[in-house]
Order: sequence, then C-alpha cells, then structure tokens
Amino acid sequence: MTMILDGKKIADMRQKILKEEIGSSGLSPRLATIIVGSDPASQMYIRMKHRACEQVGIGSVGRELSGDATTGQVLEAVTQLNNADDIHGILVQLPLPKHVDSERVIAAVRPDKDVDGFNPFNLGLLFSGRPRFVPCTPKGIMTLLAEYKIELAGTRAVVIGRSIDVGRPMAALLMNADATVTVCHSKTKDLAYEVNRADILVSAVGKAHFITREMVRPGAVVIDVGINQLNGKLVGDVDFAAVKDIASAITPVPGGVGPMTIATLMENTYRAAIVRTCETV
Ligand code: NAP
Repeated sequence: MTMILDGKKIADMRQKILKEEIGSSGLSPRLATIIVGSDPASQMYIRMKHRACEQVGIGSVGRELSGDATTGQVLEAVTQLNNADDIHGILVQLPLPKHVDSERVIAAVRPDKDVDGFNPFNLGLLFSGRPRFVPCTPKGIMTLLAEYKIELAGTRAVVIGRSIDVGRPMAALLMNADATVTVCHSKTKDLAYEVNRADILVSAVGKAHFITREMVRPGAVVIDVGINQLNGKLVGDVDFAAVKDIASAITPVPGGVGPMTIATLMENTYRAAIVRTCETV
C-alpha cells in the first residue's frame, strides 16, 4: 500500500518537541525577516513564518521595505540585523523585486545567521559534504524521508529543477546520503526516460500535473515540491490521484513538503541561537 508522507503531521510533531526544547534551554532565539514590496504570496509566507515562530517560542521581528527600495537600502537593513546581538537568524523573503541585486543581498547575510542557507559560504559547505545551515525545503524533505525511514543509500535519485533554494541543495543532500543523483532541468533531452529510472523522485518545477503516472517507476518514492494553482485549487507538480497507486510513498500538496519547510526554518533558527551562545560564553 502506498505510504502518504504526511508533512503536516511530522512538522507539527517536530515543532512541539522544538517548543519544549526551547522552553527548557534558557535561550531566547529570535528571527528577523526582511520583505521588500507587497507581493501577496510573499506576504502570506512571511505571516506563516512569524506565526510558526510564535507557536514554538521563537521571537520574531519583521522589516518591511517599500517595493522601490534600492539594493543599498536592502543591504543596509541586512547589515543592521547582522550587527544586532539579539537577532540569531535572518531571512530575506525571495523573490526580491527585479531591480534589487538578490545575489549581493543573499551574500551579505552573515553566514552564522543565514538560517535560509542561501549564502554561498553555506552552500559551499553543503556541496563539500560538511553542511552547516542548509536551505529549509530540501533539508525538510530529508527530515521527512528520515522520519518515514526511507533508505537512500544506493538508490537512484532524480531531482527535477536546479534552483538554489530547492534543486541544487536537494541534489547535494541526496548525494551526501549516498544516493546516485541525476539533476534534470528544462534542457534535459529525455525527461520521461530519466524520471522513469528514479527510485526517489523529487519534482521542483512549478507546473501543475507535470509528472504523470506513465513517467513514474512503479514503487518509486515521489516528493512533490511544486506549489501551483489549478482551477482554483492548490496542486503540486505531480498528478497525485493518478500517481498515488503506483508509488511506494508520496507527498500530498498541500500538507507535504510545505509544512516541513517552515518547521526546518524554526529548527535552523534555534540552532543559530545555540551556536551563537556557545561562541559568546
Ligand atoms: P524555479 O527557480 O523556477 O526552478 C524551476 C526549475 O524547473 C528550473 O531549474 C527549470 O529548469 C526547471 N524546469 C522548468 N520547466 C521544465 C521542464 N519542462 N522540464 C524540466 N525542468 C523544467 O523554482 P523553485 O524555486 O525551485 O520552485 C519550484 C516549485 O517549488 C515552485 O512551484 C515553487 O512554488 C515550489 N516551492 C515550494 C516550496 C515548499 O516549501 N513547498 C519551497 C520552494 C519552492 P531551468 O533551470 O533550465 O530553467
């Protein structure tokens, strides 16, 4: 029978444990977020992150910059938070407006406060097999796989997508876990062939029902990162109803990868507070 990988359940469980740990730690972890402009989706994600902080006992502050803020102004906000002793984690909500130099902003976040794990220093550590802060979505997926005791060593893993926030770090984590990894993207010649070889399939494309039943190898573990609107409903990249029966395990959308991303952000922020405290005592 197909196992439904219930990210909501696992995230709730881990956040409950985290709340207890934070409560008994004597630490006061704090996350700062920066949002530029008023994109409704970004604002919703920021609200969800602040709500999660509140639930687990992490303090949070939000910096809101207007949509016409310059790269310099965003960098200034990052610098202030880098220098603030009571802030342990900094999250810059992406995407930034096109006129802002995202790469400079991401690189400006202090590596030891980079709870999103996008700073090139932290990505470099991940790719050298010594991860410190790891992007929340792929790390959350690894946690979900571990919670369901899904074996990765020796498996053939296929990741579709090569973004900095999902595809690339996902591939590195799977490789670090001894899977044999193929990364596919829009220029991949025969995607159906590559996907059909996967024991572990991670789709991070952003196209509704992009993965059909015919593409999936029977018994594969299917991780759906995509968030798409289809006929007014939230769906993933995978045609869940059609693929569910032939996969050995599959994440739903919603309720799969999304909640694990936020739970991981909380865990990364607490970890940043622990690391900082160890450095200053
Ligand atoms: P992205 O930066 O737009 O990357 C999409 C990737 O898909 C690119 O690498 C692109 O290839 C590839 N692609 C596009 N069309 C393709 C095709 N026909 N065949 C094969 N590959 C194709 O997006 P992202 O930030 O990685 O996010 C991907 C999806 O995950 C989105 O729906 C996003 O909303 C969702 N997401 C969910 C969470 C969560 O917590 N659940 C977190 C982050 C993102 P090229 O590189 O060649 O262009």
